[in-house]
Amino acid sequence: MGVRLYFPKGGSHLGRRMIDLAALSRSQLRDWLAESEHAAQADRLWTWLFRRGGRDFADLGGHGRVPVSLLRRLETEARVGRPDVVWEHRSGDGTIKWLLAMEDGQRVETVFIPDGRRGTLCVSSQIGCTLTCRFCHTGTQSLARNLTAGEIVGQVLFARDRIGDHELTAETPRRLTNVVFMGMGEPFYNYDAVADAVRVLSDRDGLALSRRRITVSTSGVVPEIERCGRELGVNLGISLHAARDELRERIMPLNRRYPLAELMRACRAYPGLSNNRRILFAYTLLDGVNDSDDDARDLVALLGRMPAKVNLIPFNPWPGAPYEPSPRERVRAFQEILLAAGLAATVRETRGDDIAAACGQLTTAGQTEEFSEAW
Ligand code: SAH
Ligand code: SF4
Repeated sequence: MGVRLYFPKGGSHLGRRMIDLAALSRSQLRDWLAESEHAAQADRLWTWLFRRGGRDFADLGGHGRVPVSLLRRLETEARVGRPDVVWEHRSGDGTIKWLLAMEDGQRVETVFIPDGRRGTLCVSSQIGCTLTCRFCHTGTQSLARNLTAGEIVGQVLFARDRIGDHELTAETPRRLTNVVFMGMGEPFYNYDAVADAVRVLSDRDGLALSRRRITVSTSGVVPEIERCGRELGVNLGISLHAARDELRERIMPLNRRYPLAELMRACRAYPGLSNNRRILFAYTLLDGVNDSDDDARDLVALLGRMPAKVNLIPFNPWPGAPYEPSPRERVRAFQEILLAAGLAATVRETRGDDIAAACGQLTTAGQTEEFSEAW
């Protein structure tokens, strides 16, 4: 991963470039510290950054634990990246959605979804998306740019600040327990940054999120599925939404490039699959498009005996969307067919509905503070 340099807001500090410590891998942090012969401080700094959510270097020097020369270098050459919050909306069910501004003013959305002892953070991997899945609001926003690894990790650090996870004692359970790459963007079109972020998030001495608690969702970029399984070992999510090529091509143009047979081959070969570790297939039900009994039977046939879990998602409408949600009874009937065939199938409870935080509603195109206040 390349070391990402930033100019802090309002220009560089004394004309120098500042390094974002939250964007560094552990070995990069050590290398950077070694330049000033402070490599021995790497573990301390890492723990401070990722366990304690440290941001202000003054905290480090308070007890004389960090050499003054290092403190001076940190203050003049480094920063701890955090996005700025443009707005925050809290839903009645506890879901929190943030619009976050990156260093260059580009904005992404991040959503926290608490559910009992589990708290899932849905992070974005790109600003916009190059793909144009017809049912997806993000797909209407063209790609502005990829997020860096630091900006992905920054969403997690930011959320932990906000929900109080950085102040925990050893006994209190953390609230943010899972991370899903199901926000804006196609993670496998920003593979390297996503991979670096996964490595930072799962580092045992840092955030220590087990890779079994990290899910990367793809619309079906086949070559990176194999690579992800081999290199990262995270859970795999597939946005499927149709079980026949002709239908899937219509709603997800990427299917022309990677048709279902290839996609299924890559899924079957995904390492570490078992009944305890299944691929999560998302299937959004669009009224009269992909929600018939035949569609359900096609889905059963397609998934065969693969260790799979199907997440049926009632379509979340957005202004100008070309589809309607399937009626509740249709969702139920569709689910029954899957269950009767022995497929694990849940209906995703729509969370954060009242703040438009639900999946596929994430877009930041043209949003202004005034507009979002009206949400
Ligand atoms: N680009 C990746 C990550 C985004 S995940 C991917 O497509 O997998 C967002 C999930 O929400 C995807 O499963 C997507 O297909 C689904 N989705 C998009 N728009 C939706 C909508 N309007 N209603 C319900 N689900 C939607
Ligand atoms: Fe992009 Fe995923 Fe939306 Fe498709 S569903 S447009 S891949 S974010």
